[in-house]
Amino acid sequence: MTTEQTLPICIAGQWRLGRGERYASYYPATGEAVAWLNAASLEDVEETVLGAHQAFLHSGWAQRKPHERAGVLYRIAQLIREQSEELAQLQRQDNGKPIGETRNLVASAAGTFQFFAAACETLEETITPSRGDFVTMSVYEPMGVVAAITPWNSPIASEAQKVAPALAAGNAVVIKPAEITPLLALQLARICEEAGLPKGMISVLPGKGSVLGDALTQHPLVKRVSFTGGTRTGKHIAHIAADKMMPVSLELGGKSPTIVLDDADLDHAVAGVLYGIFSSSGEACIAGSRLFVARSLYEPFMQRLCAAAATIRVGNPEDETTQMGPLISAAHRESVERYVALGLSEGGRLRLGGERLRGGDYDKGFFFPPTVFEGLSNDRQVCQEEIFGPVLVAMPFDDETDLVKQANDSIYALAAGIWSRDYKRAWTLGRKIQAGTVWINTYKQFSISTPFGGWRDSGLGREKGRLGILQYMEQKSLYWGMNEQPLAWASEHREVAP
Ligand code: NAD
Repeated sequence: MTTEQTLPICIAGQWRLGRGERYASYYPATGEAVAWLNAASLEDVEETVLGAHQAFLHSGWAQRKPHERAGVLYRIAQLIREQSEELAQLQRQDNGKPIGETRNLVASAAGTFQFFAAACETLEETITPSRGDFVTMSVYEPMGVVAAITPWNSPIASEAQKVAPALAAGNAVVIKPAEITPLLALQLARICEEAGLPKGMISVLPGKGSVLGDALTQHPLVKRVSFTGGTRTGKHIAHIAADKMMPVSLELGGKSPTIVLDDADLDHAVAGVLYGIFSSSGEACIAGSRLFVARSLYEPFMQRLCAAAATIRVGNPEDETTQMGPLISAAHRESVERYVALGLSEGGRLRLGGERLRGGDYDKGFFFPPTVFEGLSNDRQVCQEEIFGPVLVAMPFDDETDLVKQANDSIYALAAGIWSRDYKRAWTLGRKIQAGTVWINTYKQFSISTPFGGWRDSGLGREKGRLGILQYMEQKSLYWGMNEQPLAWASEHREVAP
């Protein structure tokens, strides 16, 4: 691909230029354009949804036997693996993550397709206990056209998490990737088609979410939206969905607490806390951004943590040894900087970082160092709002009752981490923390076989897990009459009638 070429987008199986504005995807490490494309227009949204609907009705995908659909999903996984290095490099350029991390995301996408292929061909429809002269069954049907709206922080992994179960279920999928990271979704659609998915069953509409995502969500032929992104956008989508009586799943923001108890293994805790907040430059919904440390070990722990954080290699995402790449954009770095200024104005002390990195290659991209605040209480704005950057706020705690209160004092409830050698103590605490995922003596580990989602403002519904496929299906109950005689009521009625 040459940079100057304008990339086509995928409109219900037709690869052609979008009819919206021309724009570029920029490499956050240098600010240079990686690729140019035309955004989709509202007419493109209409054409896509109508085309996807036709493909759903007539391509035969929904009618294929589950093991046949699974065969295509296995092939998608295989093609992702065959192209893994190109995909990882493309993703590095599209969103600036270090190459080691983008390789993991690509591998995870392949694993997701493989997993949902298996879920598809092993999904059981059940015969339920009969309570009359009938046999009762519970079966599942695809929904039609479903929309997958994704953010910029983990392209391909986010998309796979939605596309794989939606296709496995027999639906047509329209992806609305984040405007600034469209490249992986487009490549994924090409792979799906190459693997044998009928044309029109996958589409990709790059461009502004407030225009295209909104139009997709409102469209009467879109029967489900699976959304990952910010809480404000998620609530907006939920309102539209309520009006349409449309099911949605919402994977939203977080402000996750990480708790280091006084009996923690400190080597593990330091490594886990660092990874939890600073990997992906903190641009992760599950970032462990609020750190609670038992007061008795607060100072020695903070010394170790900050010494280790100061050695994190921030820099060129192409370098295999880089741990943190740039932030996604100049605007996002400015937003992180505003939060640092806010933390200082709220009385916080910077124990590490806090200022953009300068000099050499740092001047070209949007780099920001690991940053650690202390001296703030949990009710401060920087402890309550999602920064989505490499900014950790550390707080000592005295007793566990108060700790639980503080950890749960957030509109978010996506994830939490607990570090303790005492598994009973960690279990008890883990049950009291309100969060969709609690990691005990580990952090930010993921498994496609384990459901994921948030409580409260962190979201609605669950993704992943073997039954994740059911989110993309309508359940239907079937009653098969086995009576020897006509239904009694009607028969008696007939007998008494003149
Ligand atoms: P965002 O909400 O701005 O955008 C997410 C997606 O929604 C993009 O594709 C965007 O174009 C689209 N969109 C924007 N406005 C829309 C509208 N009115 N209607 C329909 N679609 C619209 O979020 P972002 O800045 O791209 O991503 C960062 C956010 O995502 C953070 O809050 C982060 O916590 C969250 N996130 C959550 C998870 C999770 O699984 N819980 C995972 C990753 C990111």
